[in-house]
Amino acid sequence: KKSNPFPSFFILIFVTSGLLSRTASLFPSDLQSLYIDTRLRLDAKAKTSASIDYGNITQVIPAAVLYPESQDDIAALITFSFESPVPFLIAAKGMGHSVNGQAMAPDGVVVNMRSLNNEENGSRINVSRSTTSMAINWYVDAGGEQLWIDVLRATLEYGLAPRSWTDFLYLTVGGTLSNAGISGQTFRYGPQISNVYELDVVTGKGELVTCSKHTNSKLFYAVLGGLGQFGIITRARIALEKAPSTVKWMSLYYVDFFAFTRDQEILISTHTSHENKTFDYIEGTLVMQHDTSDDPRITSLAKQYGIVYTIEVAKYYDDLTINQDTVDEELKLLLEGLSFIPGMITTTDVSYLDFLNRVRSKALKVQSQEQGDVLHPWLNLFIPKSRIFDFNSGVFKGILLKQNKTALNRFYPMNRNKWEGRMSSVIPDEDIFYHLALLRSSGIHDLEFFQRQNREILEFCDKAGIEIKQYLPHHESKAEWIKHFGPKWNTFKARKAMFDPKAILSPGQRIFNSL
Ligand code: FAD
Repeated sequence: KKSNPFPSFFILIFVTSGLLSRTASLFPSDLQSLYIDTRLRLDAKAKTSASIDYGNITQVIPAAVLYPESQDDIAALITFSFESPVPFLIAAKGMGHSVNGQAMAPDGVVVNMRSLNNEENGSRINVSRSTTSMAINWYVDAGGEQLWIDVLRATLEYGLAPRSWTDFLYLTVGGTLSNAGISGQTFRYGPQISNVYELDVVTGKGELVTCSKHTNSKLFYAVLGGLGQFGIITRARIALEKAPSTVKWMSLYYVDFFAFTRDQEILISTHTSHENKTFDYIEGTLVMQHDTSDDPRITSLAKQYGIVYTIEVAKYYDDLTINQDTVDEELKLLLEGLSFIPGMITTTDVSYLDFLNRVRSKALKVQSQEQGDVLHPWLNLFIPKSRIFDFNSGVFKGILLKQNKTALNRFYPMNRNKWEGRMSSVIPDEDIFYHLALLRSSGIHDLEFFQRQNREILEFCDKAGIEIKQYLPHHESKAEWIKHFGPKWNTFKARKAMFDPKAILSPGQRIFNSL
């Protein structure tokens, strides 16, 4: 049953004030005199649909919604705001899969990026190659509004695919590149932002700029992981590799946190020494005693030990060129020396497309079972490796186990050296750090419980001196943002002054716009 997305008593309306250079954001009526007026909608239906997101916890009503036909429409809108005596706020909205109102614009204009994906524009996903004397490099140019599932389908036509993914593919290219874009390939290829060659961006001054590591590099590094603060991405050029046909996908089980994390770290480090002698995907999850697994053996182990830790690994291969025995032999070598519970490995062979799109069918199933208002008080953290045992006793065995509520989760390590320090994204200052995702679906009655649990986890880390960073961050105050960015804050602020000096863009992040 489709839930009603408007929980009436959890509506939070922003009141904007205290921007870098102004105090109010008023939508000017003369904007309708601009040539894009036919693409602007001020009706309640358009505004309501732009006022909510996947989290379903925050609602912020914009003054209008722009349905751009081209990047020039976006540039015209931003230029108009930039040149207005009192600039108004503008937020790009991709799929609105944020959970805390990050793609909202109080009293301003939400740019519905998906409307760039129209027939008149032709294909906005194009595969090409560049040839040097050394190599041929394949890449795809994808509009910022494109979904990763469509990028995948289009590139597979050429037998190619991007290397780095998110677990869920119904997200826009611009939306994930504004954060990082992480999944089980990140340990090996870095986040999606580490796999971008070039971007087209409309800055907060309304300028259309092409940028890369070599051209307009300050903007390039600012925008990647930049939480939409510096410009709207209208095109990204993304690295491609040869796509495999098939994936061997396995789960290994543990009841001992030490063995679980030691094995995860072995698996992500083998990559450094033997480039191809590693898995292509490594993630992890926790099944707690109050959860029910599809596998009764796991449920019973979780009851006995409190938590069962699972490592999920995948090996890609091409079933036309490699035979099963060779793959099995390679897998045997990769698993040698690991300490998972013997006899409990589960293995599935799936097509590469089905593997990458694995979350979709689960998400649809969950959605069909959900009733009433569904809210998503998610928490995503990066935890430095040196403190994961403290985190395990304080959070997993402490807060989460004791509080006894089921939540989908992910817990897996990644390598810092696959992240480009000049980009805006923020990660812990250690060579290895873990990603924890607590992906709760809650009813209205549970919302307060999960929000309190989130606060407890953050407070526990604070008191224990565990220097976590939030992924898909949500902070209430400027001081928290400054702490979040740490040594990167001054650069982030200087970039804002350079590319969006009137603090027009992505106000829903509430970095330069307070409540
Ligand atoms: P929106 O929510 O629409 O926008 C997010 C932010 O980016 C806003 O501030 C917006 O203004 C800005 N923005 C949007 N488009 C642009 C653009 N073109 N240019 C500049 N700024 C822009 N993340 C992962 O890394 N890995 C995962 O596996 C993963 N799985 C997810 C699964 C689900 C079911 C959900 C709900 C989220 C998941 N996420 C994951 C988080 C997701 O990557 C981010 O929330 C991302 O921002 C969503 O993309 P979107 O198109 O919905 O962005």
